[in-house]
Amino acid sequence: MNKKPTIVKCPQCSTEVVWGEDSPFRPFCSKKCQLIDFGEWADEENSIPGAPDMSDADGWSEDQY
Ligand SMILES: [Zn+2]
Repeated sequence: MNKKPTIVKCPQCSTEVVWGEDSPFRPFCSKKCQLIDFGEWADEENSIPGAPDMSDADGWSEDQY
């Protein structure tokens, strides 16, 4: 059998990572890169402007009708 390993590039540092059992953090090259990416994602979630204010306004305008 001639099985070619699948190589992916770490989204953080572009290091080539073999897609397989040896790379538990794939597609990242290491736990560090995985955590960096996850941290950035969480930051984006937190920076979304507050939506709860809008639902408050909805309840208030319904009262006026
Ligand atoms: Zn990396």
